[in-house]
Amino acid sequence: MPTVSKSSSVKKASSSANAKTLGDLFHEQLKDVYYAEKKILKALPKMAKGAESEELSAAFEKHRQETEGQVERLDRVFEIFGKRAQGKTCPAIDGILEEGEEVLEDFKGAPALDAGLIASAQAVEHYEITRYGTLKRWAEMLGMDDAAELLDQTLQEEIATDEALSELGDGRINERALEEASA
Ligand code: FE
Ligand code: FE
Ligand code: FE
Repeated sequence: MPTVSKSSSVKKASSSANAKTLGDLFHEQLKDVYYAEKKILKALPKMAKGAESEELSAAFEKHRQETEGQVERLDRVFEIFGKRAQGKTCPAIDGILEEGEEVLEDFKGAPALDAGLIASAQAVEHYEITRYGTLKRWAEMLGMDDAAELLDQTLQEEIATDEALSELGDGRINERALEEASA
């Protein structure tokens, strides 16, 4: 087996001048999540329409309304940061939402549809939770307490949504997915 030599030294910045800092990272992830929220805003009505269960449909509609407020919060965070509100393509959310579309198509009319929609929606929430958790922490480090507070408000909404979806699944929806279609 080849032996890998381990170096304890931290990699030095490459010789090309690259002075990107935490502020630049913050800006990039802010644009990322801005793009993501706007895509989610368009996806949620489709999920609400597709869901069999009225409860699940209502949960998606409730979160659509929350998401509108989350976009507004991001507008304010951009303002605090002194940059124009602007999105940047997030391939992760595009992929997660694409998988959700697949569930909508492939499980249409099936007993497992809603269980699949919950799983898709939770993948979205988890992506948002990781992004907002990081952004909040970085906002604090950058001395933007008001921005950190706004990001935390959204973070808490994403966590609550994730938990509500788990409860809906445990309620009846996952069990119903076990059933065979009656036809
Ligand atoms: Fe969101
Ligand atoms: Fe992303
Ligand atoms: Fe969300």
